[in-house]
Amino acid sequence: MTTFNRRDFGKLVGGAGAGVVTASGLSSFAIAQGAAAAKVVVIGGGCGGATVAHFLKKGDPKLDVTLIEANKIYSSSFGSNLYLGGFRGFDTLNHGYEGLRAAGVKVVHQFANAVDTAKKVVKTKEGGSYAYDRLVLSPGIAIKYDSIPGYTKEISNQFPHAYETSGVGKQQLMRLMEAMPNGGTFAMVMPNNPYRCPPGPYERACMIAHYLKTKKPKSKLVILDPKKAFSKQPVFTEAFDKYYKGIIEMNLTNDIDDFSVTQFDPKAKELTTKSGKKVKFDAANIIPQQRAGDIAKLAGVTDKDWVAINPETFQSTANKDIYVVGDSTVAAEMPKSGFSANSQGKVVVAEILADLSKKEKFPARYRNTCWSLVAPDDCIKVGANYTAKEGKLAPEGSFVSKAGEDAGLRKQNYAEYVGWYDGIITDMFAKTAAAPKKAAPAAQKKG
Ligand SMILES: Cc1cc2nc3c(=O)[nH]c(=O)nc-3n(C[C@H](O)[C@H](O)[C@H](O)COP(=O)(O)OP(=O)(O)OC[C@H]3O[C@@H](n4cnc5c(N)ncnc54)[C@H](O)[C@@H]3O)c2cc1C
Repeated sequence: MTTFNRRDFGKLVGGAGAGVVTASGLSSFAIAQGAAAAKVVVIGGGCGGATVAHFLKKGDPKLDVTLIEANKIYSSSFGSNLYLGGFRGFDTLNHGYEGLRAAGVKVVHQFANAVDTAKKVVKTKEGGSYAYDRLVLSPGIAIKYDSIPGYTKEISNQFPHAYETSGVGKQQLMRLMEAMPNGGTFAMVMPNNPYRCPPGPYERACMIAHYLKTKKPKSKLVILDPKKAFSKQPVFTEAFDKYYKGIIEMNLTNDIDDFSVTQFDPKAKELTTKSGKKVKFDAANIIPQQRAGDIAKLAGVTDKDWVAINPETFQSTANKDIYVVGDSTVAAEMPKSGFSANSQGKVVVAEILADLSKKEKFPARYRNTCWSLVAPDDCIKVGANYTAKEGKLAPEGSFVSKAGEDAGLRKQNYAEYVGWYDGIITDMFAKTAAAPKKAAPAAQKKG
């Protein structure tokens, strides 16, 4: 008996609401008995992978779903800027996998270090061996430390990028801000395209500037940006002028000056740019270039730094037996975001379920929205729906906040942002997120 309706699932995946599709939306589906014995292995329990594991099991409870995730706690990067600004407690970012286990997913906390695509087996550093009928990768990003001369993995312990999925870097950033003298300089080095979460560094700049404005008002935040333009630029620039005049110094590359960093000197605490500008700093957040997580390369699906995918299915173009979602992929014009990874994950679930049950497939639809808090109750957003067209993901009905908008609208955006966080956490971990209560000063000091 099969009552799974792929068309209805497609509607859920491309739903028009502001938030994500919740797990309960799938509860009425059952799936072909023929698919029951299939084994699916998912590597990476973040926005893409945890969503896939959860919804596969929800869609077909008999499916054998194994999630291989290196860490016992997922510390979300999304929402982490709000922790830096004092708008979220650190603990509210951290999530375990007990909900997925309770839902029937076999969660294995090991590090995948090989994929034998001929035998269809994943191996782990810990000696594990996991056979699969379908493989899904969502390993996120790896950091290209050598893209900033003088910056290394070791030095990132002192001056964090805080761009991987770990709470450590974010807490280090908080400690750097706390240790800074009032009147000191915080330097931020922005990444070049493509990178994880296009507006993320600029929201982070606003949250660091908010911290400095409220706690160390004589201080400065100097931004060095190798790009000539960035996401939601008019509304971020409006916020820099409106809230952080005299604190933020923005150095955006232009036809005369190139603010790409050519030297990072952690001993002298000095940055040098291509155009010769030198910045002395007390604290720094360096965000280097990025590439797909290592396991994608080991599985043989990378093309240079990233994974090329078929935008209709998110199967790797190098190996159609492997699905890849999230930041590791080239999903242009979809940005690398948690919302995108979650939306792509649901399409992959629908693909795998339809494939295993030999049911009709329908065109995939995707969605993304990225919110950014720029000051208390002032939140901006950008987003679009996407469909596969001519080998790409074409945006439809895109929207972006505008300068001079009504304060009530911006406050409403913030409520959407908080609601989305709860929704994606429920999707990923089959549990409800803790409330984003403002961090108590004592908790912030602990980091
Ligand atoms: C500061 C900041 C702010 C952001 N804000 C937002 C936002 O507001 N909205 C938004 O939508 N997105 C935001 N993002 C982006 C979002 O966090 C990412 O796009 C999203 O996490 C990508 O999901 P993913 O599944 O590709 O990777 P991840 O969520 O990073 O998950 C990858 C997982 O794979 C695991 N892993 C990797 N390799 C292996 C291996 N070999 N074996 C076992 N496990 C492995 C990792 O431990 C990790 O848990 C932000 C990012 C940053 C840095």
